[in-house]
This record gives sequence, structure tokens and C-alpha cells, in this order.
Amino acid sequence: MKRQCIKVPKKEGEPTRRVLLELEILDHSAKIASDETYLYLPIIRELPPVELKELPEVAEIVVYEFEGQDVKPTPEGLLGFSPGYEVIGDIALLEDEAPDPETALKIADALLRTQPNVKTVLKPLTPVIGEFRVREFEVVAGEPRTETIHKEYGCRYKIDLAKAYFTPRLSTERSRILTWVKEGETVVDMFTGVGPYSVLIAKKARPVKVVAIDKNPEAVRLLRENISLNSVKNIEAIEGDAREEAEKFAGTADHVIMNLPHSAHEFLDSAILLTKPGGIIHYYGMTPEDDLFEGSIKMIREAAERAGRNIEVLEEKTVRSYAPHQYNICIEVRIL
Ligand code: SAM
Repeated sequence: MKRQCIKVPKKEGEPTRRVLLELEILDHSAKIASDETYLYLPIIRELPPVELKELPEVAEIVVYEFEGQDVKPTPEGLLGFSPGYEVIGDIALLEDEAPDPETALKIADALLRTQPNVKTVLKPLTPVIGEFRVREFEVVAGEPRTETIHKEYGCRYKIDLAKAYFTPRLSTERSRILTWVKEGETVVDMFTGVGPYSVLIAKKARPVKVVAIDKNPEAVRLLRENISLNSVKNIEAIEGDAREEAEKFAGTADHVIMNLPHSAHEFLDSAILLTKPGGIIHYYGMTPEDDLFEGSIKMIREAAERAGRNIEVLEEKTVRSYAPHQYNICIEVRIL
């Protein structure tokens, strides 16, 4: 069986294997192979630049012919269909359109039997709602809790799904924002949640400072734990309203992250106030497919003009599909 793999000199094999295990990217259905000089470690997906940096410099991505190996039972094998779920730490979260209670129990049982890393199965009872963007859950099976530790790009996050917003679906997006931040810059994360943008940036980009703000006291409590868990020193965690805090940090930010896509437009005046001349706003929105970017750019331009400033649009990005004909987008705008 042909697989994409990481090819490294044998002496780099074990550290590389550990990194791939940590990133949960090693393909266990194929047997690690070797020749006289190299080890070939099969992988299940592409590595974005932020993950590639974790590997030894000599590592190459190549395609190699592997032998298969016995694979453990899968949820699909037990159920006869492929259940929709995502894993956050050791919690499996059934998809939004959760099945009837009997099917949910069958899926939970199959997940607990086949996925040793899953200890709890949750079903969402509400969509993400309210100012704090949280939702309610029911424990379908396993340990009765909504708290877990989730790993992402070498950072560890304490999460409580019922108390503060978190989704692993934005992990690639977070790594994209990381690539914008340069050493010595100041970042304001206006809607930080439990800190997945702030902690990643503070740890990997060596900014001078990250100001991480959230109005939800539970999110900030978890953010403070995550700052300790990851031993980062350069984050100032603030429980407060982004609009009020913007007054205190006016003109300090090289980057402003506005990850509150349903209502970021209401905070544009504050974001512009925060941004240094030449600084960049990372503006998130939920937009219809027939106006992905233009409407948002117009609002950003108007807010800048109200403050006597100009804008330069640097990037327009469709982050993910959110609902039929609706997209989560991000626009990078320089504020002059
Ligand atoms: N950036 C985080 C992430 O990627 O997980 C969290 C994003 S979540 C969509 C938005 C966050 O904004 C929530 O944690 C919510 O509590 C916070 N929030 C809502 N209104 C706020 C405000 N006026 N000031 C500060 N934070 C606010």
C-alpha cells in the first residue's frame, strides 16, 4: 500500500516518531519501514508549516510502498456506518444533528470500545448560543464531565465545553494567524475564550506581549490555567469587555484578532482604536456566499474613515463552511 510518509535518517527516527505521535498523525494501518539509511514513517494527512517546523530539518515528505498491519476494530466496523463525531481531548462530541437516543448510545458504546483515548461521549443539546458562545450537552456514556485537556500544535488546553467556547475545527486557522505574527510584536486577542490563539502565539511567535480579553469569567479562569499549563509568561489575561479594554490599550497592537464572527462588525471602532499605524486586524465574519468579503470590507473601511484612517486589504480567506450558503471568513486588513 502506497502512503505519504516522513523519511528521516535512522538516528532521527525515534524523536520523529514521538513528534508524529504527539501530533496524532502517524498512520497505524501501515508498518513503519526502513532501508540501510532511512526510516519511513507513514502519515494520515498533510502537515501544515507550523507542524513541519517540529520535525528535524532533514525530514522529507515522500511516497513509499508500505506493508499493511492488523488494525484494531473501528466504530464503522462495529456499527456498519460511519458516525459523525469529533474528539476534543478525551471527549467524543457527537455531531450537531445528533441521532435518536438509542442510536446515540450505540455510537457511544462503539466509540468507548474502539477509541482508547475517548473516555466520555457528549451530545449537544443546543447550538452555540448567547454572548459567551457556549452550548448545553448531555453525557451519553462514559465519565460524566464536560472538562478535558486538549492538545493542539504542541500546546495543552484545559477546556470545559459547557462553560466556555472551544472548537478544534479552527486549529488550522489558528496556525495560519500564527504565521502573520513576528517576533517582538504586540497582539490583542479581543475575544480570546480559553486562549487557543493567544497561547499558541505567545509560545511560538515570541511576541513582546499578547493581551487576551474575554467577558466570560469561566473562559478567563481556564485561560489563566492554560497560561500556566503551557508555561507562557508574555500573556496578560483580562476578564472584561473588549470595547472598554480597547480604550486602555489604544494604539498598542501590531495585530488585533477579532474571533467573534457573528458580531465582530459591532466592535470595529474598538479594533481600529487598538491598532498601531500599519498594524493588522484579523477580522472574522459569517457571510453569505454571494457576498463573502465586500460587505465586510465596506464596514471596515467606514470604521477606519470614522477614525480618520485608511485601510489596505491584505488577504481574504474562506475559513470553513458554516451553514448552507454561509461561510466563516477572515479578512486581514492593514490599518494605516
Ligand atoms: N477565540 C476563541 C477561540 O478560538 O476559541 C473564542 C472565540 S468565541 C467565538 C468568542 C468569545 O468572545 C467567547 O468566549 C465570548 O465569551 C467572548 N465575548 C463575547 N462578547 C465579548 C465582549 N464584549 N468582550 C470580550 N469578550 C467577549
